[in-house]
Amino acid sequence: MTVVTRFAPSPTGHLHIGGARTAIFCWLLARHFNGKFLLRIEDTDRERSRQEYTDSILASMNWLGLDADEPPVYQSSRMGRYKEAMQRMVASGHAYWCDCSPEQVEAMREKARKEGMKPRYDGRCRDLGLGPGPGRAVRLRTPLSGPITLHDIVKGDVTVDASELDDMVIWRSDDTPTYNFAVVVDDMDMGITHVIRGDDHVSNTHKQILIFEALGHPLPVFGHVPMILGPDKQKLSKRHGAKAAVEYEKDGLLPSALVNYLVRLGWSHGDQELFTIKELIAAFDGSNMNRAAASFDPEKLLWVNANHMRETPVAELAAMTRRFLADDVKDVPAPALEAAAGLFQQRANTLVELAKDVRAVLLSAAALEYAPGAREKALTADSRPHLVALRAMFAELPEWTEQAVHDALHTYIDANGLKFKAVGPVVRVAILGSLGGPGLPETMAVLGKDETLARMDKLLVQPL
Ligand code: GLU
Repeated sequence: MTVVTRFAPSPTGHLHIGGARTAIFCWLLARHFNGKFLLRIEDTDRERSRQEYTDSILASMNWLGLDADEPPVYQSSRMGRYKEAMQRMVASGHAYWCDCSPEQVEAMREKARKEGMKPRYDGRCRDLGLGPGPGRAVRLRTPLSGPITLHDIVKGDVTVDASELDDMVIWRSDDTPTYNFAVVVDDMDMGITHVIRGDDHVSNTHKQILIFEALGHPLPVFGHVPMILGPDKQKLSKRHGAKAAVEYEKDGLLPSALVNYLVRLGWSHGDQELFTIKELIAAFDGSNMNRAAASFDPEKLLWVNANHMRETPVAELAAMTRRFLADDVKDVPAPALEAAAGLFQQRANTLVELAKDVRAVLLSAAALEYAPGAREKALTADSRPHLVALRAMFAELPEWTEQAVHDALHTYIDANGLKFKAVGPVVRVAILGSLGGPGLPETMAVLGKDETLARMDKLLVQPL
């Protein structure tokens, strides 16, 4: 059997992290089993659905690398097909036309409530053999009693008795399908074998099981994943630092890191925290998804991101950083950007940070800015003569490599009986404009000799 999964967002907002995690699970399951991952846009709510959200969701999925195997299916384009399925169910006796008015149905509900039962439609049109007509809806002929069991790969078995469900409407009197009906027809037509989604849909699933059965279609495997909560175990919201996927993209997170973090937030594989996408595909087989709701932790997300930054090949990292570069360095050639990114790869936590860091290397000496207070702190009456002497010595170096610069620097320090900190800060402020940063020889090697000397000169003309 080919595993076929789907992600079925409603385009009423951007892709948020709960939705992203569901999409990731579905995608991983399909990739693990060499199956198919499909997309369905649930846009039947005309009022709330917007094309811009569909575009945004698709863009976020693309950014996350969640490629679908077929073009998306839009529910809004399938009305004819839903109608056909409804008519088939009526013809086979699994559904029937009902002409009860909303007021009548409300009265039945009220009556049931008064009798201490669940509000329900009383089935009065079941055997009237009505046909279509104005104001008429189609209802599913639900079994009167008996267990309906959802075998859920996350939650285990969840059973409700059919007597708790009434003859639900599958086709409204305004000639549109109900949500649960459209979903089942779609899942059937798309050949979905595994439905992974948020557990806010569990209460729909028993109804969907009845519709699958009425349509004579085998049930897919279901897995309902718990919601993501805030660190305070409350429903996740902006105040917990949770954002839409597109905002993480703007914040300079790596898509692989967000995928890694979100998967681990609802699934475990021993105690491994860090995964490449390849490792996730190999390990994720639909088992070990957590039953308990997980708490979102922005700090940990950043930690995972920093780790992914370290592991990403520098050429890739540099390419991803380019869009975050300030205008004055935006057009630097790729090799220069890569060399600069290599200096900060082990230190930067996000692409935004990295873009800021590399700018200090990519700018020309004339444009170099000093961090507040750095110059005053590093350039003193004691350190200035060392900078003068080092400048002269570096100017004479016959070759300019990290090793050569390192050796020259340490020869100077040793020959003058100094500690590194007598010269380190002033050199660092000269070449990077701040007191922190990567090692001096490696930075100077990337800057090149002329640029290094120009930067030293620039600091030396500053008044003490
Ligand atoms: N459109 C639904 C949602 O966004 C998903 C339904 C499903 O996966 O069956 O929550």
